[in-house]
Amino acid sequence: MQLENKRALVTGGSRGIGHAIVQALASEGADVAFTYERSKERAKEVETTLRSSGRKAFCFQADSASAPAVQASVQQAAEALGGLDILINNAGIYRGGPLEELSLEDLDALLSVNVRSVVLATQQALHHLPNGGRIVNIGSCLADRVAWPGSAVYAMAKSALHGLTRGLARDLGQRCITVNIVHPGPTLTDMTKEEGEFSAMMREHVALKRFSTPEEIAGAVVYLVGPGTSNVTGTALTLDGGLNA
Ligand code: NDP
Repeated sequence: MQLENKRALVTGGSRGIGHAIVQALASEGADVAFTYERSKERAKEVETTLRSSGRKAFCFQADSASAPAVQASVQQAAEALGGLDILINNAGIYRGGPLEELSLEDLDALLSVNVRSVVLATQQALHHLPNGGRIVNIGSCLADRVAWPGSAVYAMAKSALHGLTRGLARDLGQRCITVNIVHPGPTLTDMTKEEGEFSAMMREHVALKRFSTPEEIAGAVVYLVGPGTSNVTGTALTLDGGLNA
């Protein structure tokens, strides 16, 4: 129970990697709030399950594309939990294809959900995080190397998070707040399915010839917010099965 008495907010915690992070933090003793966009029923189920295991748990509907919703959700989470020690910026979307076919709506969604919301949630969380607080951003191995066509703007957004991570690590060092980024490779969620032509192509690029599980990504997040990594900041941890090797 390395996170007992810690209070964490995970954005996009109803499904996929975010859900695995919520579960992993709670199983280490943290009380957890998380946001979702559409999966109300699913989010409520997660909340109920966590509460029945003895944790404080709260879910909040908040579209990461909406600045006021993001700001309000951090405030609500801090109030419900009685403070905030850990922020995990996980919510994200993928939109791909040739640049000449990318709509303005998709471009705006990629930037507002994957980048702007992270800045805003962090900005709001800084009013609550104590000295020694932790921030982990969920990036993508595509921030480092884009191994196939059609993902340029998504990769750009995740690279932006990497720059933000480094800059904030520098800014928040005096408060002993660590800021790191986890770069998953293809991971089995609703975003990345086991089957299909695109998945087969991605798997070919992975050295281990398999996709990661959400639990493997969550394990890295727990490591970065745990007591053993208080000197780790401004860095990236890539879990891509060797895709970028
Ligand atoms: P999923 O699509 O499986 O789940 C996304 C989660 O984020 C859900 O909880 C969803 O809520 C929430 N979410 C999506 N859009 C919004 C929004 N506009 N506002 C608030 N919440 C939102 O994604 P993954 O778990 O696969 O991805 C999680 C993170 O990992 C993302 O940042 C993604 O870019 C990154 N990543 C994923 C990889 C993969 O292969 N899966 C690889 C590399 C990086 P709701 O249930 O309500 O829709």
